[in-house]
Amino acid sequence: MGKFEDLRRQMIQYQLEARGLHDEAVLDAINAVPREAFVPTELVEFAYSDTPLPIAAGQTISQPYIVAVMTAALELKPEDRVLEIGTGSGYAAAVLAEIAKGVYTIERHKILADSARKRLEDLGYQNVKVLHGDGTLGWPEYAPFDAIIVAAGGPEVPETLRQQLAIGGRMVIPVGSSLETQKLMRIRRIGENEYVEEDLGSVRFVPLVGAAGWKDETATAPATGVSLPELIEASSEHFAGIDEVDLDKLLKRIGECRLVLLGEASHGTAEFYEMRARITRELIEKKGFTCVAVEADWPDAMHIDHYIHGTEPDPLLESKPFSRFPTWMWANHSVLEFTHWLKKHNDVIREEDRKVGFYGLDLYSMFASMEAVLSYLEQVDPETAQIARTRYGCLMPWARDPQLYAQVTLTDQYRACEKEVVAILEDLLKKRMEYVKADGYRYFDAQQNARVVANAEHYYRTMYYAEANSWNLRDQHMFETLLSILSFRGPDSKVVVWEHNSHIGDARATQMSARGELNIGQLVREKFGDQAYLIGFGTDHGTVAAASEWGGPMEVKQVRPSHMQSYERICHEVPANNFLLPLRQALKQETRERLLPERLERAIGVIYLPETELQSHYFYACLPRQFDEYIWFDESHAVKPLTKQSTEGIPDTFPFGL
Ligand code: SAH
Repeated sequence: MGKFEDLRRQMIQYQLEARGLHDEAVLDAINAVPREAFVPTELVEFAYSDTPLPIAAGQTISQPYIVAVMTAALELKPEDRVLEIGTGSGYAAAVLAEIAKGVYTIERHKILADSARKRLEDLGYQNVKVLHGDGTLGWPEYAPFDAIIVAAGGPEVPETLRQQLAIGGRMVIPVGSSLETQKLMRIRRIGENEYVEEDLGSVRFVPLVGAAGWKDETATAPATGVSLPELIEASSEHFAGIDEVDLDKLLKRIGECRLVLLGEASHGTAEFYEMRARITRELIEKKGFTCVAVEADWPDAMHIDHYIHGTEPDPLLESKPFSRFPTWMWANHSVLEFTHWLKKHNDVIREEDRKVGFYGLDLYSMFASMEAVLSYLEQVDPETAQIARTRYGCLMPWARDPQLYAQVTLTDQYRACEKEVVAILEDLLKKRMEYVKADGYRYFDAQQNARVVANAEHYYRTMYYAEANSWNLRDQHMFETLLSILSFRGPDSKVVVWEHNSHIGDARATQMSARGELNIGQLVREKFGDQAYLIGFGTDHGTVAAASEWGGPMEVKQVRPSHMQSYERICHEVPANNFLLPLRQALKQETRERLLPERLERAIGVIYLPETELQSHYFYACLPRQFDEYIWFDESHAVKPLTKQSTEGIPDTFPFGL
């Protein structure tokens, strides 16, 4: 039996039957449809997972269980004709077509309608018709239908659909006034004007967008007549420039928070760096923050830390650290200026523990970190150094090219080095008391490097297994590092984190979570609750520093004006050019509520591909749940790099490079 057939049987057994679904016609239909043919190729291995999956146009293919429940609720008979709203991948249409005589399915995204039509044809379904259009208007030509199934959630049951239901017919539709959850309703038409409604439970669907659904551009709410951009204008704090902005109110909102996470919507926009520097300076001066932790490698950031403690010359000018692609992310003028400020600030402080420290959260420095651990041990404990050298010897052949390590461990020809690298970290932790006596700071540095090596080894080893998600390992490493910084700096220490929006904005409020991905923002919220303040950043247009491919040279690219259906577009329509928009303590509750329906959001990483922008850079998110505050620059500009970048050691974070 084939792999997918196996998975399909398991899915039926564990996800459907185990949950009490025993409708034989439905189970047979599901058993007959190759779900792997309906998911994007890079996700086929998840085709039978118990979850919705992302498809094109920011939509999803529903969770198998939901398709089964809805199909069963339709009580289909072989001679029935079914109308489906929301073709998506075409998967549910295929399941319906296995049972009913004819399926008429409508999809509002042309790209989805076209590909579903082709897919269904290729699979030999001759009883399915696919229409590109607004399903809330139904398909009058073929009405009435014995059954109607709606695969997207709207605020109410469209009257047109009620009318197109045959007497005796059943409609299954998710309905709800919020985009976050809906009630799954079954509506039976029992007479010309008589319907019986049943509640089948809570569900969560992508929005039903159309004439009798949510507005495509929900900017204008009929209820108040005030447009969303107008509401944002009235509930945000405007500013002319970064130097002039008054941050007192923001500091008040941050209050006693111990962690402030500052995002960015690209890795190459000067305004994001400079605003984060401005906020960080105030947090240091007015709120006693002493740690800055950034999305950079530990050893690189350590050079900056030494510099701002006066123990090393300016490393950015010496161009020592940040030599791996993408250099401009940290070796740029905005960061240089900020590190100079940090040094000046530290210079006049006597007590070591009140000085600001600068730390790197990332794990792409396997080789540099191994060297750092060995050189530390050689000085404090030559005997252990000898053992460590032998253990790291396992990884050394791949030190310059960890991705090769990732590949060789996939084959059984090479043994993985997990035990060895973990043993070194354990040795360091065991001898902590002894080592710390000599120099706590240097011990902390060495221990962090040993942690980087151990986690990087794991990261590379799982890189090619999507299941053991390497994205999650990376964000878990960053979170662990953050905890370790806080514990090193003491129980009262406060930290500012600089990372991309996609790391610091709560993953549970974005499409990432459908892929099983978490991030540091989510982990921080789970552990610290309201003690953490998450600030996202956004922009509409301008220029950005980014490459066109991995390891490629930095280019200054034009940022395309934002997508019609994005949060960015709404912010662009706000009369003020730059603003801070509080979301946790919204100035107007209505603004927050009106921002809740999911929209597209743009993420530019170290790569920017304007030609395929929608597929490459947009994802769905719920902004007010993702961030506690959002900072907007309508127009923004590329960072200025310090040196010509080198193209060594490319991290594999394709496709976003975040
Ligand atoms: N049945 C699909 C699930 C698709 S998700 C599957 O098995 O893959 C819901 C789909 O409804 C999305 O593709 C979305 O674009 C579509 N949709 C939303 N509003 C719509 C409308 N008014 N008319 C037609 N399709 C709509």
